[in-house]
Amino acid sequence: MPLTDLFSRTISYLRLSLTDRCNLRCMYCVTEEESTGCLTKLKHDELLTYEELLRVVRVAVAMGITKVRLTGGEPLVRRDVMSFIRALTRIEGLSDVRLTTNGILLERFGQELFDAGVTKVNISLDSLHPERVEQITGVNCFHQVWRGIESVLALGFTPVKLNMVVMRHINDDELLDFARLSQNMSIQVRFIEFMPIGESTRWSADTFISTDEIMDRIRVMGDLTPLRKDRSDGPAQVYRLGEKSVGSLGFISPLSHHFCNRCNRLRLTSAGTLRSCLLHDAEVDLRKVLRSDSDDAAIREALLEAIRNKPQGHRLAERMHRSGSDCHGRMSRIGG
Ligand code: SAM
Repeated sequence: MPLTDLFSRTISYLRLSLTDRCNLRCMYCVTEEESTGCLTKLKHDELLTYEELLRVVRVAVAMGITKVRLTGGEPLVRRDVMSFIRALTRIEGLSDVRLTTNGILLERFGQELFDAGVTKVNISLDSLHPERVEQITGVNCFHQVWRGIESVLALGFTPVKLNMVVMRHINDDELLDFARLSQNMSIQVRFIEFMPIGESTRWSADTFISTDEIMDRIRVMGDLTPLRKDRSDGPAQVYRLGEKSVGSLGFISPLSHHFCNRCNRLRLTSAGTLRSCLLHDAEVDLRKVLRSDSDDAAIREALLEAIRNKPQGHRLAERMHRSGSDCHGRMSRIGG
């Protein structure tokens, strides 16, 4: 029996924020003060242990979860992450384990990830100019990330997806350069609408660019032909640019064409809370359940409670003309 919510959506996808720590300080994740000073982080014992995470995933898989994505923060900075990932991919019934990473440690971990069975990676990269990457992330890391991308392509990861958050006046002059990558490389370049998330957001109606505008601007390079979506495309609408591209373009429109009616996700934040919508602050405290000597039935009940709480939609578009955000969590804690 598939796991369904109150609106008949099948819930089959669990995103785990392994840690709120990150080796970058991206401008949309931290506040201006934090970009130069101290970041508030969870204490070590506030994170779920690997044993606790594995236990939750085992229960969730028995209930109908088939796909897990590791995110954060930066998942690859958590100590001994590979032994956790190896144990995770061995869980019976879990056929699909993926990773979202900033790519800095991919060159180092690529082979081990591949051998463990994680062959689908999304890499975040918001600019192809090294100085601009440094401005956006606070770290001079472009070349390291690029080597990471090349190494996973050489290892045979598929699909490899490159996520660009499109921000007006910040990186939108690079739309065509990113689109061009899909013509020559076997990757899916994904353009993500900038969302107003958390206290730290630099989001404004002015920096926001809709998918329709992004597509119109890219069409000067050639036709965009819709491709049939496959299971790994998630909420992206996928196109091929021109006739001969080896890769594809994905467009993710959480604001302009939201996909709440198809949302199959549940999140486990790095603080051990279950969250059924990225943009809705309601959470169920699973860490408390895990640390109260409960049996697996209590974990199951917590997962069901979170699924029952899953809102029908996020109403983000209605907030477009208000400043601030109704989603107050930090993206790195929630798991982007
Ligand atoms: N460290 C990993 C990484 O960089 O991919 C995983 C965590 S990061 C928070 C996950 C994704 O969320 C990144 O692709 C990032 O660009 C995206 N993201 C963060 N804040 C965003 C926002 N306000 N709007 C749209 N995407 C956002």
